[in-house]
Amino acid sequence: MRRLYRIEHQGAPRHAFERDGRFHLIEGDVFGAYEEGSEIGSEHSRVLAPVTPSKLVCVGLNYRDHAAEQGKPLPDEPLLFIKPSTSVIGSGEPIQLPAWAGRVDHEAELGVVLGKTASRVRAARASEHILGLVCVNDVTARDLQKKDGQYTRAKGFDSFAPVGPCVAMGLEGRDLQVRGYVNGSLRQDSRTRELIFTIPELIEFISSVMTLLPGDIISTGTPAGIGPIRPGDSVTIHVEGIGALTNPVVARSD
Ligand code: MG
Repeated sequence: MRRLYRIEHQGAPRHAFERDGRFHLIEGDVFGAYEEGSEIGSEHSRVLAPVTPSKLVCVGLNYRDHAAEQGKPLPDEPLLFIKPSTSVIGSGEPIQLPAWAGRVDHEAELGVVLGKTASRVRAARASEHILGLVCVNDVTARDLQKKDGQYTRAKGFDSFAPVGPCVAMGLEGRDLQVRGYVNGSLRQDSRTRELIFTIPELIEFISSVMTLLPGDIISTGTPAGIGPIRPGDSVTIHVEGIGALTNPVVARSD
């Protein structure tokens, strides 16, 4: 298993593998041909979102416990929505809340990063299209979601898609612990074996509708325990084998 980071190095974004607290810069294209280059210390490198997706395709109600919490029946096929590329931030960057948005919730999720273009891919071959796994916080303006009756505005604010801290390559996603914390206190705790639709099933279903590009992210849904976040909070999504995605919450000045 390898941990792929994207860092700011000498003023430019670079991909790097992390080993023992050191970054090994990548020369070339992580989605194509590349090799490992020079090694640098991690202490002065700012971590960025590990990929720059053209879109995040997210799944609503994909854990049995969350569907029960929301009082909704289990879906018979995945419910999809998209978060825009402009909502993505990396670990450490602030989630910005407009006061007028009302209640905003954290949603701890496992994300799947595409490594290859995927169009009409069968579940049995889905793994060939995966680069690796990430933590995602599907930040959601809950009041606006209810008011609008659909998800675009509620899920699409700038900074509402923290992703990271790295892409775990070669990690098996079938049974990983997924946890969400606010100010260090545990709010969500489940395992991906509780998913209603599995990662291969999601890749088949989504790629039957739209082409997934290298770097695109499928966010697999959130378990029970969602709750509000407020300016001054710190929210952490932790997925077993990947690490911790931590973001401060601030009030947006507008
Ligand atoms: Mg979600």
